[in-house]
Amino acid sequence: MGTLSGRTALVTGGSRGIGRGIAERLARQGALVAVHYGTNREAAEQTVKGIAAEGGRAFAVGAELGLPGDADALWTAFDAALARHGGGSGLDVLVNNAGINAHGRIHEVTEADYDRVFAVNVKAPFFLIRQGLDRLRDGGRIINISSGATRIAFPSITAYAMTKGALDTLTRTLAQDLGPRGITVNSVSPGIVATDINPWLADPAEHARAAGYAALGRVGEAADIADVVGFLASDDARWVTGQDLEASGGSALG
Ligand code: NDP
Repeated sequence: MGTLSGRTALVTGGSRGIGRGIAERLARQGALVAVHYGTNREAAEQTVKGIAAEGGRAFAVGAELGLPGDADALWTAFDAALARHGGGSGLDVLVNNAGINAHGRIHEVTEADYDRVFAVNVKAPFFLIRQGLDRLRDGGRIINISSGATRIAFPSITAYAMTKGALDTLTRTLAQDLGPRGITVNSVSPGIVATDINPWLADPAEHARAAGYAALGRVGEAADIADVVGFLASDDARWVTGQDLEASGGSALG
């Protein structure tokens, strides 16, 4: 019996990359997993199929984030799909993983880029949590995917790094607010992970440079992050809240 048997999880951006790894991991722990996607339904269905092939339970839920009413749209789709898949109602684990990058030093970032990255990376998780609080059961988990870029300065992604700083503040503040309900709220901060968000890793020289950031000498994989999320979602992490756990292979330690 898995550590999350009988529990339901929602992973935003579960269709690809780190989110897919998290969805697979939580399903292996026994959770029924809602695999959220923005536009790439096919990728979400592939995640669901992969989970089913391993004996797990999952279903896809689509809603584009960063638009007015996005949180309501996602929860409406979630409620309907959960009922269809025999999950009853309610949620135990919410993973706010969906995110986009915004490249450029401060003078290169347009107002539209800035608004977009904050809408997807900050406003959407904020309202997803706000609208989801009556669904989230006492003793539940909220896990926000932040970034090592909150600790290590990367001027080429200033606006993006700021969004993750805001998310970390949300994590700490909500942990205090939701503690009386036994809900833990934590962030996980990946280092550089080989996913679609980093197409530049296809260049072998860039890949080697990225591997060089980590004390452990390689680029991260989705599973490296997913396993940490799996721990935070489990009962083993019951006494951990309001924390940011960096999973970066020891990037830029000294
Ligand atoms: P990917 O680009 O591989 O995947 C992004 C996921 O987010 C997809 O599932 C995508 O859905 C979803 N998504 C993106 N934009 C929207 C939107 N507007 N509405 C709804 N869904 C959306 O990214 P990663 O897996 O690399 O990143 C996952 C998280 O990890 C992000 O928050 C990112 O900031 C963070 N992170 C990543 C690092 C890395 O090096 N990869 C490092 C540090 C943090 P769809 O498939 O439908 O497009």
